[in-house]
Amino acid sequence: MIETEQLGKRYGAFDAVAGVDLRVVPGQVLALLGPNGAGKTTTMRMIAGYLRPTSGVARVCGHDVVRAPVRARRALGYLPDGAPAYGESSVAEFLAFAARVRGLRGVSGARRMDEMVERLELQPVLAQTIDTLSKGYRRRVCLAQALLHDPPALMLDEPTDGLDPNQQREVHALIRAMARDRAIIVSTHALDEVRAICNRVAILARGRLCAEGTPAELERQSRYHRAVSFRAPASALACELIGRLPEVDSVVTDPVDGRVTVFPREGQQVFGPVTRLLEAQRVRVDELQLERGRLEDVFRRVTADATDLASAA
Ligand code: ATP
Repeated sequence: MIETEQLGKRYGAFDAVAGVDLRVVPGQVLALLGPNGAGKTTTMRMIAGYLRPTSGVARVCGHDVVRAPVRARRALGYLPDGAPAYGESSVAEFLAFAARVRGLRGVSGARRMDEMVERLELQPVLAQTIDTLSKGYRRRVCLAQALLHDPPALMLDEPTDGLDPNQQREVHALIRAMARDRAIIVSTHALDEVRAICNRVAILARGRLCAEGTPAELERQSRYHRAVSFRAPASALACELIGRLPEVDSVVTDPVDGRVTVFPREGQQVFGPVTRLLEAQRVRVDELQLERGRLEDVFRRVTADATDLASAA
């Protein structure tokens, strides 16, 4: 389990992280989201024991990261942002070093290294020095070292940053497979990644937690929740009629792809009335969808609210 209680980091008069409470249990993959500078990396570095908190507590599998740093670190696999140090070492040397540091020796250590090399497809670059690797390969080497000791808790800072789509899919599959019995925190700016691998979401803004829940719970807070969107080439008249339906709040047409979105009034359902009207008007519809809600919409709203509150203070 990974948990924080009122975790904070202050630089002079500036709160980079202010009283953050998180709790991630095995089986959960928590997406830590937030605009640039929100405090995601600072939070993760404190949990990883790289940065001392100025207030609050962080624990990994019950071990306080300040009072029992060695036990806490042993229980955690951490993928920091950026590239690994030891740029002049070869990938094989670096991974062997990381394995030794983590107490992995002998046959089981070698087997674990082979497993990571195979899973992250590092075979072609094993003899190459880290400095000469492409960005994606560097990220994969970093990920391999974080997972080597098979820790019960994982914290991955932008794990797919710089990876090609095939590797992104492979890393997503790896995270999903590991999630069964591990507590995992993933920070990312890619909201489609959240849908692919995360079953919890926490949004930080200005160092504060401003939303938390399952992706579906957050999507329900979006104005797109229960909206109907469709694509229909000749629907101008139908759209005008839809806009007059009593259940409808507004109708918006995307100027780029022509997709029409019908937003319901508070507490109303528009799917039935809209589909009936389109049918009655004999509009040829290419695509029609009842929306779950959109994370990017919630993200935009809660992070803007946090900024407004901070400017008003
Ligand atoms: P990004 O998405 O851009 O990676 P982030 O959410 O990870 O951003 P952090 O790197 O945690 O954000 O930074 C949070 C805030 O703390 C930023 O305003 C940053 O400038 C500030 N900060 C970080 N380290 C220091 C430091 N050593 N001294 C002063 N301010 C700092």
